[in-house]
Amino acid sequence: MRDPRYDVLFEPVAIGPVIAPNRFYQVPHCTGMGRQRPHTLAAMRGIKAEGGWGVVCTEYCSIHPSSDDSSFPFATLWDNDDIRANALMTDAVHAHGALAGVELWVGGSSVANHDTRLPAIGLQSTPSPDGFEPLQSKRIDRRDIDNIKCWHRDAAKRAVTAGFDIVYVYATHEYLLAEFLDAKTNTRTDEYGGSLTNRLRLTRELIEITLEAVAGKAAVATRFSVDLDDSESYDAFAQLADLPDLWDLTVNDYDVEMAASRFHGEGVVANHAARARSLTTKPVVCVGRYTSPDTMVSMIKKGKQDLIGAARPSIADPFMPNKIKEGRLDDIRECIGCNVCYAHDSIGVSLRCTQNPTFGEEWRRGWHPEVIHQTGNSAKENKALIVGAGPAGLEAARVLGERGFEVMLAEARKTPGGRVTFESRLPGLSEWARVRDWRLTQLRKNHKVGLFPDSMMTADDVMDCKADYVLLATGADWTTDGIGRSLQEPFAGHDNKNVISADALLQDTHKIAGRYLIFDDDHYYLGPLLAKKLQAAGATVTIVCPEGRICSWGERTNEQYANNVELYNSGATILTNHTLHSCDSNSATVTCVYSEKPTTVEIDWIVPLTRRSPNDELYTQLQNLLRQSRPEYANNRVITIGDCHAPGLIATAVYSGYKAAIELSSTNKIRAPLRDLPLATWPDHQ
Ligand code: ADP
Ligand code: SF4
Repeated sequence: MRDPRYDVLFEPVAIGPVIAPNRFYQVPHCTGMGRQRPHTLAAMRGIKAEGGWGVVCTEYCSIHPSSDDSSFPFATLWDNDDIRANALMTDAVHAHGALAGVELWVGGSSVANHDTRLPAIGLQSTPSPDGFEPLQSKRIDRRDIDNIKCWHRDAAKRAVTAGFDIVYVYATHEYLLAEFLDAKTNTRTDEYGGSLTNRLRLTRELIEITLEAVAGKAAVATRFSVDLDDSESYDAFAQLADLPDLWDLTVNDYDVEMAASRFHGEGVVANHAARARSLTTKPVVCVGRYTSPDTMVSMIKKGKQDLIGAARPSIADPFMPNKIKEGRLDDIRECIGCNVCYAHDSIGVSLRCTQNPTFGEEWRRGWHPEVIHQTGNSAKENKALIVGAGPAGLEAARVLGERGFEVMLAEARKTPGGRVTFESRLPGLSEWARVRDWRLTQLRKNHKVGLFPDSMMTADDVMDCKADYVLLATGADWTTDGIGRSLQEPFAGHDNKNVISADALLQDTHKIAGRYLIFDDDHYYLGPLLAKKLQAAGATVTIVCPEGRICSWGERTNEQYANNVELYNSGATILTNHTLHSCDSNSATVTCVYSEKPTTVEIDWIVPLTRRSPNDELYTQLQNLLRQSRPEYANNRVITIGDCHAPGLIATAVYSGYKAAIELSSTNKIRAPLRDLPLATWPDHQ
């Protein structure tokens, strides 16, 4: 039953002509689906409405082909053909009583229009920020401004036809309207430049045009940035304060709004938004990666915001509102702030989530974040042994337990969690322990699952368990030979005693002292974080990377810059564009990847961070035993999952555990994943 303290979160909120059924508001967020995957998108948004979100919005929705962010997937309302795909989403959202919102979007100089091949229309003619491509935007002229107003009006009308209840004017995140607002970029001398009123003119006009276009059939929201360090942002806000029906507020810096949890915690936008809220009579929504209902209530009660905005928390747990409503707080699957979701949008595929393996699979595979069907496994063969309680093993145990299996989960260590337990001890990664803790909480509620810590399993132990199914989730270890993306064979000296595994640092089995060389061919968070840990413990670190910059993959998770700021400030020596060549007891030789010129670095220890080796010895031993005694079991009943199968992200391991468990011995036919296709063109238009 719901705690009455949280009642305020379930109050309806009037937004212009429409009423949100509660204060849970999924703000527009990218999905990697957009116009390319309309069924995937609609099913995913529908699940959020089912989970209790009172408002569910699209991602950015282009009003015209001159706003084309390919290869990032986005939505479109370019013409009437687009109505059908968007209506799939609004229908799915309305089916559960929620409101559907659409974020109309004008790209400006930030886009490259790769797909449509039209020049981007920007305030100035500036170089494309997209991968240093030698492209510049077209400088906007009066005809373009008139066109944009017309396109926005038409798109707003189509949005209403598609069934949207809230239509956005998107005036931040460095897109065209933000370019107009910024005095640095806006050097126009006509009525669209100069004074703040002039720089705001196009935003005001688009809000007015949109209000007129929707004609009271939908509310008009404006996404806008305010910042306590930028007093003009409040002056701008004040000029428009009561014009739209809703303010969706954020801060200027996307790296703050969308920061990885290492760099910013819950509620980072709230104080900035609160000051603006005091200047308007209209409701305000803002995000803050809120997962605690107490924090949410305090934000409402303190008058900082009216609606609890969420992107990532609604991905990690589409059912968070319902869980709060039902008093099931410990069932909330909290976002860990890793930004693996966002990373996948930037490679043009559906988002995946570390905490929620079903995200993006609602339509394709028919998965549901909360419903695990008791998929008719034979009552006689329902004993499963899972070896290893890292993210893969924990998730598999949870799902098999829900399916009605009797599960034995054996873990060699006293503490479960595998890599998550070690990595969450690194500076700033404590939230990552949520991956382990949420699953342990779920396991404790299921008497069908037994967790056996401190149980190192041998092949004979596994055979003695006489389980019907064995899932090996024994993980992977960092190697020391240096083989990875840069090196195809071991570096000379790799078997010296001073070459240590990254696991020794992660698991604190190595006493930190002296000079270290980290060879970072992993390009993610671990290199910078191990360097930080070593430097903080009094060691000196040289970090060597074959790429031109550290943490290249972190560009996608929005942490590349912040990781490097930390790394540079830690005092570590940074050597990019170099690869590891050889080492002896007190020096390492690294070579430039272009000139091959060698550099000698004085060191005591070398830590290669290049690849992990799957721990599949137990699997091989079991296969050998079973092939002799029970060959039918060898192929079907003993499987590897997670990093032991193929090392990857924590998200990959959780997904692997979920997939194996949901499909294991299912008597229901596992259907092939559906293939989604764009719906943009009606055949009679061809
Ligand atoms: P994943 O990410 O795939 O879940 P992890 O490396 O995080 O992999 O976790 C693997 C877990 O398996 C670790 O906690 C490790 O202690 C455990 N493990 C490895 N080998 C055995 C074994 N033979 N018996 C029991 N547990 C094991
Ligand atoms: Fe949160 Fe990570 Fe899931 Fe994104 S991928 S929603 S940041 S847990």
